[in-house]
Amino acid sequence: MTGRIPRYTLDGVKDAEVSTHPFATEDGLGLNLTRFRRAECDDVVLVVHGLTSSSDLFIMPEHRNLVSYLLGCGFTDVWALDFRMSNRFPYDGETHRYTLDDIADYDYPAAIREMRRHVGGRRVHVIAHCLGSLSFMMSLFGGRLPEIASVTCNSVALTPRVSTWSRLKLTCGPPVLEYLLGISFLDPRFAASPMMTRDWALGRLVSMAHRECRVSECHMLSFMWGSGHPAMYEHDNLLPVTHERMADLCSSCGTNYYRHVAKMVRAGHAVKYDPRDRRHSDLPDDYLANAAELSTAILLLTGDHNRVFTDSNIVCHRRLSKLMPGRCELEILPGYGHLDPIVGKDAHQDVFPRIGQFLKRQAI
Ligand SMILES: [Zn+2]
Repeated sequence: MTGRIPRYTLDGVKDAEVSTHPFATEDGLGLNLTRFRRAECDDVVLVVHGLTSSSDLFIMPEHRNLVSYLLGCGFTDVWALDFRMSNRFPYDGETHRYTLDDIADYDYPAAIREMRRHVGGRRVHVIAHCLGSLSFMMSLFGGRLPEIASVTCNSVALTPRVSTWSRLKLTCGPPVLEYLLGISFLDPRFAASPMMTRDWALGRLVSMAHRECRVSECHMLSFMWGSGHPAMYEHDNLLPVTHERMADLCSSCGTNYYRHVAKMVRAGHAVKYDPRDRRHSDLPDDYLANAAELSTAILLLTGDHNRVFTDSNIVCHRRLSKLMPGRCELEILPGYGHLDPIVGKDAHQDVFPRIGQFLKRQAI
């Protein structure tokens, strides 16, 4: 025994009946929902991870995780989704050309259909992180998801904004990596590649620019996702064991998603990747176009040290407050960054109660 936390463990959630619910998307991918149930309740919660992470973000055994928190405060039927961005599946490491439109059009409608088979017409509340949040909101605002009671979005929602350095990486990264270096995906474990290989060299080069800690995977994740030392979180907000296993929680990622995010950053809000793509003709070209018709309650969360999507949710709150007055709330989390509101050692004290209070206000 090494004392290492096993990957994909369910040990972080106690006293719940656990069941798995595989389902397929319209374009032929197998995905999964994991249900944690303590008792029947009127308000069901679905948690949605971001790119290259997984449902593990919400059920980590080393801290009081979000699923356990929700189960303990009266939301006794919680579902965790693993969609095509999940590192529990091979899709992120395969050659592909998926966009966020594919996820909005195929993954969430299929997931909610599968949930509804079991929970019927009960209220469904969603808590989503990062590109899971952006793509879920695209699905909702694109008219693909009727009857969602509330959505809580961490870090970003419908107006992705990034720093100048991140914008440069989003724009130049895919062509430089794919055509000059021959790399079609980035892996936080690159520095562990055999010496003198291309992947090893990139990992070492990135680590030379990151002296803030000794975890090479943490350096690579900063390079992949933001601008900062580190970019994804405040080191002080993490338990050491979480920091050291960050590559278990956030794994490798294909570069094509960056192209769609870059397009949305340039547009200032969520837009379709290719309006000529007939597979997605049922989605709007502009995802804010029909916002006024939506009745879902929205909570936008952001750390005030967010070095991945900077002030995206502050700007989104401003825009949605005009488009759908009275439906959108904003919570700024002092001392937090992008990912630590979910995986931080004190998130159960600093962050989760704010989500719980919002959900209880919607569960009337
Ligand atoms: Zn670090």
